[in-house]
Amino acid sequence: MKILMYAVLGDEKPYIKEFCQQTGHQVDQLTDYLSEKNVSLAKGYDAIVTQQTVAIPDSVYQQLAEFGIKQITIRQVGYDILDLPAIHQAGLRASNVAAYSPRAIAEYTLTQLMNLIRNNKRYYRATTSGDWQWSAAPQGREIHDLTIAVIGAGRIGSALAEMLHALGAKVLAVDPVYHAQNEAFLDYVDLDQALAQADVVTFHTPLNDETAGMADSAFFDKMKAGSYFLNFARGGLVVTDALLANLRSDKLAGAALDVLPNENEFMSAVSDPKIIPADAQALMAMDNVLLSPHVAFYTDLAIKNMVRISLHDAVALANGQKIENEIFD
Ligand code: NAD
Repeated sequence: MKILMYAVLGDEKPYIKEFCQQTGHQVDQLTDYLSEKNVSLAKGYDAIVTQQTVAIPDSVYQQLAEFGIKQITIRQVGYDILDLPAIHQAGLRASNVAAYSPRAIAEYTLTQLMNLIRNNKRYYRATTSGDWQWSAAPQGREIHDLTIAVIGAGRIGSALAEMLHALGAKVLAVDPVYHAQNEAFLDYVDLDQALAQADVVTFHTPLNDETAGMADSAFFDKMKAGSYFLNFARGGLVVTDALLANLRSDKLAGAALDVLPNENEFMSAVSDPKIIPADAQALMAMDNVLLSPHVAFYTDLAIKNMVRISLHDAVALANGQKIENEIFD
């Protein structure tokens, strides 16, 4: 089978090579993400795989179907970039990699939470400019002394909750789907209760019509004064202006964000900081805001699994087989 893989990173290549050697399939690779501009390159292939934060427009699905391709496989968890009705209307099947390594994202969230509550950005900036005084930052907080609300206790949120519980934190969860096994390390509450009680609120929901802009002014109004806000899921969950207002007023003690709603405007290049949108620049300038470039997933184990699982699934879908990772809605 001939597979075309879009948006390939250098560190994925050894696993692609291994897959080809083990299966005898051919995988051709492009560094660009899939778009209207390069969908024509998929002609003559049996299957395609991509990984990207930029949405895939409807016209692409139609063209893939015209080339005789039967699927679109993304090697990531979040599938908000896909237009599922358009995919199904074009007669294609879709899949993601639902669990390449939930721990990768959970561990990075924990890392940034630790950095945030011990004011490490402030101390890093102070010591770099020669200021070695403790007073360069306020007192830190200790994790076992905090109540932490996990919004979305799915694969990633529950992995994080389990680690936080093991460290002694009180963990609350908000999720419309109940998992009895999570009761060992978290307490299910409703959103208002979580926001009223939590010292830290961390987002791990998908981005969809229901969750888009969920962290808005009314949401931040309900959070405790002096609490921390984290988003390691999708930028579109948060209204950045509302977050900024709550950071500027000192209602929030700080934030850690791995994702921003407008990240695609500047993420794929080394940009002149001046061309970065004003809201992102304002966050960058704040001592109590930790930013990272959508890298919570980026570990050796995650990359290996993303490549292997997506390629095997793409072949199975192209062959008309059932797979666990198929996305239906
Ligand atoms: P998952 O499907 O296992 O869990 C998501 C959970 O959110 C589910 O339990 C679901 O019931 C819950 N949920 C849905 N709507 C909700 C709502 N309105 N309020 C509260 N909970 C709600 O997914 P996952 O593997 O845990 O991934 C979560 C998200 O993390 C993905 O959708 C993706 O956007 C993001 N993600 C980010 C990175 C990164 O590198 N930063 C990497 C992977 C995934």
